[in-house]
Amino acid sequence: MAVVTRNGNHAGEELVRLSHVNKTYGRGERATEALQDINLTIKTGEFVTLLGPSGCGKSTILRIIAGLIPASSGEVLYRGKPLRGVNPHTTIVFQAFALFPWLTVQENVEVALKPLGIPPLERTKRALALLDRVGLDGFETAYPRELSGGMRQKVGFARAMAVEPELLCLDEPFSALDVLSAESLRNELMELWTSGAIPTKAILMVSHYIEEAVFMTDRMIVMEKNPGHIIADIPVNLPHPRHRKERPFLQLVDQVYGLIAGKTQTEAEELGSMPGEAGRTRPLPHAPISAISGLLERVNEEVADRIDLYRLAESLQESLNDLLPSIEAAEMLGFAVVEAGDMMLTPLGQAFAEASIQARKEIFATRIRRVPIIRWIQNMINAAPDHRINWDVFQAALSLEFPPDEAERQMETAVNWGRYAELFYFDDDEDVLFLEHEPVLAGSPVAVAEGPEPEPSKPDKE
Ligand code: ADP
Ligand code: MG
Repeated sequence: MAVVTRNGNHAGEELVRLSHVNKTYGRGERATEALQDINLTIKTGEFVTLLGPSGCGKSTILRIIAGLIPASSGEVLYRGKPLRGVNPHTTIVFQAFALFPWLTVQENVEVALKPLGIPPLERTKRALALLDRVGLDGFETAYPRELSGGMRQKVGFARAMAVEPELLCLDEPFSALDVLSAESLRNELMELWTSGAIPTKAILMVSHYIEEAVFMTDRMIVMEKNPGHIIADIPVNLPHPRHRKERPFLQLVDQVYGLIAGKTQTEAEELGSMPGEAGRTRPLPHAPISAISGLLERVNEEVADRIDLYRLAESLQESLNDLLPSIEAAEMLGFAVVEAGDMMLTPLGQAFAEASIQARKEIFATRIRRVPIIRWIQNMINAAPDHRINWDVFQAALSLEFPPDEAERQMETAVNWGRYAELFYFDDDEDVLFLEHEPVLAGSPVAVAEGPEPEPSKPDKE
């Protein structure tokens, strides 16, 4: 086997090249322009993510590379040759992998090898080796229904890797899993990839979760929709294993969020200063999480990409006045843009509206960590010897910047947001804000919890 450079530090051989690729689904009035002028190359040794809001054409790019659908125009090359029909060098792992319920775990992996003409003994050998590698040793004879969601997805990975694809394509492979299973599976994949234990030469993963992309991959291709196009190609030059709390990691996450949120002002101008610092402290708009979420969900349902604010208020059966704090919060956090009386979601706002509960909390946390009042509260609690501070202390400090009842309302909103994002906690009985223990994070071996039954994988809209 040729020496494969993990981490993409050295340019490898070119596997895939898309040049000026366009894709339109359907024709005439019902035509959807899914991709516009996509230029993309993937080399051996690279782990690349496609990142962007739902509908920006990420899955379409995977399907074109796998040869499941043709491009409408442009050139698709695999190892320098035009791709015709199904690409034998790739496999795709989908969100919820379709396993055959009547076959055992082992048979579910072996079944992928049959069409390749591999003899039965060799099939068994390969299947057992892979199941062992993904941590399913001992579950060979179990049936899919006996496994948790995370374990089933591991069988999916094992099956995809059994055929030893040169290019492994992953379409949001972790998004149907609970947080802990997703995290342990991410770590296992990274282990397989960085150690070179699998013959896969490159990985292309679809994600709409920025931290996941920064955690795992060498390059992030950021996309936008209507029609789907690439807006940035960002290298991730951090050594593995990566740590989510380190500065360079957080900076890169922020940089990508900033890009997706399409900010125009500098952060300092937009967000103001911390209480006690020179400059104006921008008050938090008094919008509870439920109102912000409801607003973003409602706007995301809109067919047009902008909605008139009066019509929006009407459809939510609220006065525009009552809606304004949520609108301001959505703008402040980079979820929406208001222009000429219309509101539009940013790709980040769309991602939030479509995300699972946990992913929403994570997106929200990354956004409010930038807000000076929230940062100030975090810093204060952090600096306290036992990481606990009474509510009154904050309120008194804020009273220097705001009238007393406004200071109290600022604290109410900050606590509502901070609690939701799990940045800090509040004990109602003692009126104390505090930091909890470190949550379970990457790297810790985690038993796979019995997750809920995953939804059956959705048939493609082809
Ligand atoms: P993503 O994976 O980024 O969510 P997709 O590649 O699934 O995006 O879709 C890109 C666009 O193409 C969307 O507007 C979607 O509605 C449209 N689309 C996807 N598949 C089909 C199809 N089979 N027929 C018509 N439109 C489609
Ligand atoms: Mg998709």
